[in-house]
Amino acid sequence: MIPGSFEYYAPRSLDEAVKFLAAHRDDVKVLSGGQSLLPLMKMRLSKPGFIVDIARIPGLDTIAEEGNNLIIGALVTHAQIESSDLLQKKCPLLPQTATTIADVQIRNRGTIGGSIAHADPAGDWPAAIIALDAEIKVTGPNGERWVKCEDFFLGLLMSVLEPDELVTAIKVPVTGSDKTAYLKAAPRSSGFAVVGVAVRIGLDGSGNCNRAAIGITGVSDKAYRPECVEQMLSGKKLDAKTIEAAAAESTRNVEVIEDINGSSEYRKHLTEVYVARALQDAINR
Ligand SMILES: Cc1cc2nc3c(=O)[nH]c(=O)nc-3n(C[C@H](O)[C@H](O)[C@H](O)COP(=O)(O)OP(=O)(O)OC[C@H]3O[C@@H](n4cnc5c(N)ncnc54)[C@H](O)[C@@H]3O)c2cc1C
Repeated sequence: MIPGSFEYYAPRSLDEAVKFLAAHRDDVKVLSGGQSLLPLMKMRLSKPGFIVDIARIPGLDTIAEEGNNLIIGALVTHAQIESSDLLQKKCPLLPQTATTIADVQIRNRGTIGGSIAHADPAGDWPAAIIALDAEIKVTGPNGERWVKCEDFFLGLLMSVLEPDELVTAIKVPVTGSDKTAYLKAAPRSSGFAVVGVAVRIGLDGSGNCNRAAIGITGVSDKAYRPECVEQMLSGKKLDAKTIEAAAAESTRNVEVIEDINGSSEYRKHLTEVYVARALQDAINR
């Protein structure tokens, strides 16, 4: 359980970090909270020759409101999000999601940027941020670019990030009067989602749904939006019958995984149940 040897570098600026990544791109890993990277290194599933610890780079650990958006720095921890009054008021889906991640120690160290860069298909953040149509700020040798989160995740532990690029921020909208909720089924031992469902629902003056955005994690090799469910809810009154009929389509066209936590049949059923429950939970808030 001891990692292989590596050279440690702690840059004081993004520019230094990117230059170091570019110089060692095939043999380097970024260290944020270390909650996913260190276990992998200890099991020797990851053996980087160089580590870039970005914790001392200023400006990456803040949450700020900019117009109708919130900008969350990559180094903001799960615990910071959980306890943020600003997010509680302006985008409560994020604090609610944070409370479901692992345990207090992991929430104190793990970061939203590290979690997103890691692209774990059972991670909680991907579900929440795709339901919010978030954008991810990526910084590399060619400067900065914003990537829509639906385009960011490619599959199991894979994203569009190049080895010499960093996630530096996440942009989410202020959700205003929309109703949101995150629910997950997870084994107590790890807390990782077998199924995790984030929903954002907008209702017009007559109580009809004018926005339905759903993010699902744990079910496939990457988080996804069940478009068919969203379409079946749009423009409708969200009564129990409508919700149940729409939720039944939650895994349509999705390759549902199976692992030690459950068969694909079980996951499929659980997804339908959790989509219906998350929708109901959001509406009741
Ligand atoms: C026992 C246990 C239970 C857990 N339970 C849950 C859970 O219930 N839900 C959940 O969502 N997560 C869970 N996690 C994962 C946890 O949330 C991690 O904090 C998170 O996945 C990674 O964040 P980190 O800051 O620790 O990243 P690190 O471990 O430092 O890095 C993870 C990976 O991302 C890369 N990376 C890190 N930061 C950046 C960056 N800014 N730019 C580019 N690349 C970067 C690293 O090189 C590495 O490959 C659990 C972890 C453990 C150990």
